[in-house]
Amino acid sequence: MKRDALAIWLGDVVCAAGYSGADAFAREHALKPFRLRQLYHAATKELRDDPGDVTTLPKELRNALMQRGIRFASVEPVTLQRSRDAQTTKAVFRLRDGKAVEAVLMEHFGERTTVCISSQAGCAFACAFCATGQGGFNRNLSAVEIFDQARFFAGEPAQRAKRITNVVFMGMGEPFHNYEAVMGAVALLNDPQGFGLGHRHITISTVGLVDKIDAFTKEDVQVNLAISLHAPTDELRSGLMPVNRRYPLQELMAACERYVAATRRKIFFEYVMLAGINDDSACAKALAKLLRGPLYHVNLIPYNATPDGAFEATSDARIWKFAKILDDARVAVTVRQNMGRDITAACGQLQVESQPKAHLPMSRV
Ligand code: SAH
Repeated sequence: MKRDALAIWLGDVVCAAGYSGADAFAREHALKPFRLRQLYHAATKELRDDPGDVTTLPKELRNALMQRGIRFASVEPVTLQRSRDAQTTKAVFRLRDGKAVEAVLMEHFGERTTVCISSQAGCAFACAFCATGQGGFNRNLSAVEIFDQARFFAGEPAQRAKRITNVVFMGMGEPFHNYEAVMGAVALLNDPQGFGLGHRHITISTVGLVDKIDAFTKEDVQVNLAISLHAPTDELRSGLMPVNRRYPLQELMAACERYVAATRRKIFFEYVMLAGINDDSACAKALAKLLRGPLYHVNLIPYNATPDGAFEATSDARIWKFAKILDDARVAVTVRQNMGRDITAACGQLQVESQPKAHLPMSRV
């Protein structure tokens, strides 16, 4: 399905300002289509935050839009923390209704610059090892609220003029539980008339919602798919991820096969290494058996501590032993590099500790 990025952007931005829709907005301000394109361009290409900053617009129009509450930026950074590894920056964003989400910028020593963005405030899936899940679900984000997290980092002067090369939907929330808004955000990220990030540079990660994997298969987009697997048997997986009771492994793997058959694209399987739980040789062998297939790739993730985490991280030596078993069985495997643990920005650690109440000054650590 082809989505109209400009229409999605405009709809979200004017609704956030209290208009009933794009038509009502265009009528009230007597805006021709070229003016709407100009607004869209200013926000998504020039990365401006307010119509007030767009000097190509007539002054009266700028003032009128500002007065009516039209703002391009739907997320406001309240804190920005930089990790000691000097490559990771975590932002806490406040949304217009006061809710908050987090996003993480990872600069891989100048090679590529990845932004990890959130699709929901909180998460409904309650995976046992994940901080976001421990906090429960709050609300879905709009397409623009999702997109704006990447847009913010692209426009951030502290970003030292490096281009965002990759965006991953691996922040807070379950992207396929907010499917339409996430696909809208993908359209906004990708639009050559706007942000212009190639599909192949975008990755969506899911807990494994089978119906949505099937919908995604039909999208005909070259966006990468990652599945949070974390266990090779139903018994183990259901204990770690309650969603497995609804979509057990056999159904999940069948959807993965349909995806690969239809798209000929690779699938990445994430597997968090939990000491004494899912990291022994038997698990590695069972995983190798489950993931036989030329387009399957396993990503082993070292466990990151969470506030009430009942888990221990697997030792590096054990992780490499596990990886070797997969490799020997000819399953493609990589071990994920850890970034930003000191600022709780690593995988599974995103959880807004307290929803910001008042306007906080931007702080840097
Ligand atoms: N809900 C989606 C998107 C989040 S992606 C999903 O689950 O795929 C975040 C990734 O980090 C997921 O693979 C998740 O399982 C993993 N993760 C969660 N908690 C973690 C932790 N404490 N340590 C390491 N990885 C974790």
